[in-house]
Amino acid sequence: MKRFKNLVLGFVAMSCVVLLTSQAGAQGKEHSTPLQLKYLGAAGWEISDGNVVVLIDPYISRLKYGGVGHPDDDRPNFARDDVARSDTDLIDSIISRADFILVHHGHFDHLGDVPYIAGKTGAKVIGTETTITILRAYGIPEDQLYAVGGGEDYQFENFSVRIVPSIHSALGEKHYFDARRLDRDSDIEAPLRINQFIEGGSLMFLARFDHHDVLTMGSMNFVERELEGLNPDILLAGVNGSRLGLYNYDERLLKVTDHPPIIIPTHWDNFRLPYGFSQEAAVTRNIVPFISAVAVISPDSRVIPPTHLETIIIN
Ligand SMILES: [Zn+2]
Repeated sequence: MKRFKNLVLGFVAMSCVVLLTSQAGAQGKEHSTPLQLKYLGAAGWEISDGNVVVLIDPYISRLKYGGVGHPDDDRPNFARDDVARSDTDLIDSIISRADFILVHHGHFDHLGDVPYIAGKTGAKVIGTETTITILRAYGIPEDQLYAVGGGEDYQFENFSVRIVPSIHSALGEKHYFDARRLDRDSDIEAPLRINQFIEGGSLMFLARFDHHDVLTMGSMNFVERELEGLNPDILLAGVNGSRLGLYNYDERLLKVTDHPPIIIPTHWDNFRLPYGFSQEAAVTRNIVPFISAVAVISPDSRVIPPTHLETIIIN
């Protein structure tokens, strides 16, 4: 087990790009532009198939808030009722273009940087009415905003996405529940405080790229019947400790998604640490046991542990 863990850590620490051939590629149907998935940390991704650039919950600022920071992290400490602030220099160094931004829910580690990124890129944003209401407060133009309830299946020019109703992680030992919502009648004013980024309901997305269907998660939870028949070939699986409080999470998730050939853990890291800080504790706690579980439940699936700001390439 120790050697296995070291292998995983070595893999995660690798600095090169991961090049993978999916089942389609293995059958000789190589695609001119492979799918590229760059991990932004937390539940954040930049995914491109050469035609379209889609951001998922792009949270770059990784503010130090709501807990004990790392002793080597000398950035300011934010309280939850402090006004939220995006690290725009850092965002500019990482994000240059986006056509779409898909937002799973309104919490700060999902939506916090979207006002700046949507303003900067002009990307279309798809999210709950709460998410869209917050973006409206930040002055994002209406023609960029798509409020959805879950169940929609939208075709855009070179990209389609099915919005999947979902539920939030069972935080606080299953005592978390937040039914608050924002809408046009809500009295909010930007910039918001961190704790004004409320959940507002949760979504998943089936994002259809050229040759690949990616099922995204922003929480360690899902509504099983909503995933039936989606059959993604790439699953961004929520892999954090709160999933352990759910009934047979790994088994139910992999079975209902028909054992996806490629599974990439998401939302597994400590997102209050800056990029470049060790995530070894999170790898040990979340990634290593998940890989062991998948090996038993879905032995033909390949788990790719992502590394911050590195790109996984899938043919
Ligand atoms: Zn959340």
